Amino acid sequence: MPKLDPATKKQLIARVNYYREMGIYDFYRRPVEEGGVVESAEPAAAAETVIADPEESLFDSPLPVITDKRAALKAIREDIGDCTRCRLHKGRKNIVFGVGNVNVDLMFVGEGPGADEDEQGEPFVGRAGQLLNNMIAAMGLKRSDVYIANVVKCRPPQNRTPERDECDTCSPFLMRQIEVIRPKVIVALGAVAAKNLLAVNDSMANLRGRWYEFKGSRLAVTYHPAFLLRDPRQKKEAWKDLQMVMKYLGLKTKVSTPGE
Ligand code: SF4
Repeated sequence: MPKLDPATKKQLIARVNYYREMGIYDFYRRPVEEGGVVESAEPAAAAETVIADPEESLFDSPLPVITDKRAALKAIREDIGDCTRCRLHKGRKNIVFGVGNVNVDLMFVGEGPGADEDEQGEPFVGRAGQLLNNMIAAMGLKRSDVYIANVVKCRPPQNRTPERDECDTCSPFLMRQIEVIRPKVIVALGAVAAKNLLAVNDSMANLRGRWYEFKGSRLAVTYHPAFLLRDPRQKKEAWKDLQMVMKYLGLKTKVSTPGE
């Protein structure tokens, strides 16, 4: 395989960094006849920079630091636009992108917006959101100390579980949000979030109570607040999950069980 000369390599790294600052992280490699770098012919697919030499370790180097996280998130939101990429766009009022501080250690990921969230354009603002706020407060934090987002950004009709293809279509935006935020810990709220992030199909009983490595962050799984509203007996179990997170983040316990 041909090697890139240092000047070209430097240029390419700068270009990749530029795209990442724009919130674009996915690159595709296509076979080309000659070595070097070939730009995609599709202007709409600006991110499709083609790297001819797979041995060239451009992507082995540490990811560059996002210098302006807010701008990067804004770029992702602009990329979503008035999205019609999956059928969930049909019934929505608002795209629910995400909310919170960009410089946080902790990020919560839920399943998708409900009626209140769809109305207000913000995740976790209904009853389940109030319980999540209580859970966050029990950890000694404020809602503004964390970042909150969902796997799908439009409300599924009748609050049904988002389907596989809907999650697959929308979750790349979440992955980009995570790449920008780069929290120390991600808490997946419920099975849909956990299964989508971890690409596994397992029960909550098996998914909870342990750490996972995820894109340089640690990931823990707990119950979705909406589930806890339906079955409050599980709050104690959820609290155990949060205590595991608190221990790792060095947060002090303030109350016994959130939401009580
Ligand atoms: Fe687009 Fe995501 Fe909404 Fe589907 S759920 S329409 S992919 S923003």
